[in-house]
Amino acid sequence: MIYTSYEMMRDCRADRPEGWRFLVVQYVPVMRKIVRHYGANQAGPEAALLSIARPDSPLFASLDPAPERVFVAGLRQSILEGIPAPAAELPVSLEAVAAAFEPLTLVEKQAAWLESMGYGAEQSGAMLRMAPATVAAIRARAAELLRGQTDRWRPSLLAENGRALGTEAAPPADGCLAARKFLDIVDGRTTWAGREELARHTDACWHCIDHFCRLLEAVSLLRGIEPLTEAEAEPFYKALNLPASRPAAWKRWFASS
Ligand SMILES: [Zn+2]
Repeated sequence: MIYTSYEMMRDCRADRPEGWRFLVVQYVPVMRKIVRHYGANQAGPEAALLSIARPDSPLFASLDPAPERVFVAGLRQSILEGIPAPAAELPVSLEAVAAAFEPLTLVEKQAAWLESMGYGAEQSGAMLRMAPATVAAIRARAAELLRGQTDRWRPSLLAENGRALGTEAAPPADGCLAARKFLDIVDGRTTWAGREELARHTDACWHCIDHFCRLLEAVSLLRGIEPLTEAEAEPFYKALNLPASRPAAWKRWFASS
């Protein structure tokens, strides 16, 4: 049987060591990337791990089988809650951003929004399967649009407000789409009609644009990730007060029979 992130969520919810071990080995490398990207240099992945490794964490609450990318997008949200974001010097509301970017297409909005998540043209281009120069050109246009919508503007305005905008966009509304619909697009499983339907809602819904971007970010976070070796995992097991060695196979068999 293959142990997946779904089984891990179930085991973490039940506070079983197997779940926490899998979380450490598979996802501490992802946590490390998240923490590094969002600038929490003072706190390493250990602090991120400790902040989320509770059986009652909303991260493990879903009873539906969730693909790994959905789990990682949620992991990012949970970790960010623990990383303080300084208030932007020049605040800009989601409403102003939505009004400014109204003329942009869905993919152009994504290219602009990924800037608020701290991704440069190169990384965003890889996520959107688009040339970095195209991303840069879209961003230049988006910047002009935003400039026209705000009294005080500077080139870094969107990036500086990224965390606050992300928080504002986080709660879903009625009719918002499930992660699966976005993953169908990412994986090329969607039909033309499905894509049209998605575009109609998402084009004007900043929760869904943010959600879509967070799933693309999850794909990128998982790329090239190597699980920790037992030796590398050891300090993290210790931080979680887990017994050092894995239970023998017969014990697991005994426990489940
Ligand atoms: Zn929506």
